[in-house]
Amino acid sequence: MSKPKLQIIVLFQNLGDQQTYYARSPAPPLSGLLLAGLTPDLVEVDVHHEMVRPIDYDTDADIIALSFMDFCAPHAYEVARRFRERGKIVVAGGKYPSTFPHEVMPHADCTVAGEAERVWPQVVEDLVAGKHRRIYQAPLGASLENIPPPRYDLAEPQFATPVVTEATRGCPFTCTYCQLNIKRAPYRVRPIEDVIRDLTATAKLPFHKRKLAMLYDNNLGGDMGYAKELLREIAKLNLWALGAQFSFNCLDDDEFVELLAEARCGMAFIGMESLSQSSLNSVSKRQNKVQEYETAYRKLKERGILTFSGFMLALEEDTPEYYRTVPQKLEAVDPSALLISISIPIPGTPFHRQMETERRIFDHDLSHYEGDHLVFQPKRVAPDDVFAAFENINRTFYSWRAIGRRWRRFVSTYLRARGEEAIGKRLFRAALLSYILLKLSIFQRHHARKKVFPHLTRARAAPRPVERSVQIAARRREVLAVVD
Ligand code: SF4
Repeated sequence: MSKPKLQIIVLFQNLGDQQTYYARSPAPPLSGLLLAGLTPDLVEVDVHHEMVRPIDYDTDADIIALSFMDFCAPHAYEVARRFRERGKIVVAGGKYPSTFPHEVMPHADCTVAGEAERVWPQVVEDLVAGKHRRIYQAPLGASLENIPPPRYDLAEPQFATPVVTEATRGCPFTCTYCQLNIKRAPYRVRPIEDVIRDLTATAKLPFHKRKLAMLYDNNLGGDMGYAKELLREIAKLNLWALGAQFSFNCLDDDEFVELLAEARCGMAFIGMESLSQSSLNSVSKRQNKVQEYETAYRKLKERGILTFSGFMLALEEDTPEYYRTVPQKLEAVDPSALLISISIPIPGTPFHRQMETERRIFDHDLSHYEGDHLVFQPKRVAPDDVFAAFENINRTFYSWRAIGRRWRRFVSTYLRARGEEAIGKRLFRAALLSYILLKLSIFQRHHARKKVFPHLTRARAAPRPVERSVQIAARRREVLAVVD
């Protein structure tokens, strides 16, 4: 008898089927591939990333597992409804169901709340036996030992870097907008041998895809001793390039930076978030020191490490004057690529509570909570200032001329600083990282122009919430005048 089929779908299209946007992301998220790795052999499993292809509602899968974040929740409910109408069993899991399981439960046959590792094999067993529960609650902060490797072989061929894993979970910091601060769990690390096993469980991939990998930690440097030991082991794998994510303060540690280079780290993901120290302080991101950015980023460039930095607008102390200075300041700090977004008050975070208490949220449509929309009234700037800054920073930072300047600075800084490395090795690395930088810049440029700018144009044309209430009040006065 054939096994039941399970399709894991990682959702991405927050604005539904009408306004689809396919990201040119080089790497898949970890959730779907990891869940497939955790799935017992009782079912046939398949993974579908909605960021690269549309959902097939006519699939012959019997069970659909939907993984989604906050901004995809409205879309997830619609997708779940369409599959349930076709007689499929729908399981919901991921960040949003973990935070608000009781909101999600009516939309799914089964909801998994929390980290899946400790409960997923049981969920699948129960689903196959037809005796699944409505909700499975995973323990908070469970051990990260014995997690099997993700199923890289199930990633779509569009992903150039399917080898993604994580070494740690959690973060010692308490940034008020961060999802990790909804339900805080202790900082945890995985056994180093498990991480190395994941990075080498790649036999089914073409050779060039085995040589690139990403560590999706929230903050790799949360336990510096562990991070250094791990990087020493990764160095032995002779990867072509590794991506790693850590907090800005880790760059104070020169040995850590040197070990990143030895592990062939080619891309560091760092939450720079702002060039205004007071705005950073307003969201408790005091570990970032604006005056140290330039030196820290230079250290990475000298070691041939590109930087991909988060950058947020509409933070509490942002002003129109600050926005005018940002392009020039970015040119000085010189991050290789920026992920520019508008601050999101993610439901459940301290930042969201603050916005709710101060009654500043004017848009409660969760599908807009992805960083491309403004959903609350900023403190010291008007919404139009935020939209104009978003467009201006994107257009200047991702102009072809600026991309070319950054590429030249990166390559020349690296080649000059690493004179002791073999010339062939240096040139290969410079060529590979140039390609990655170009692809990433095109991806970000494309995202802003195709996905965000159209919203901003519509948002500018629509009356502001405050203007709208003034219009309503004026209309009310007109009506009262007629009644009188
Ligand atoms: S440093 Fe990053 S991961 Fe840590 S709490 Fe702040 S935003 Fe979250």
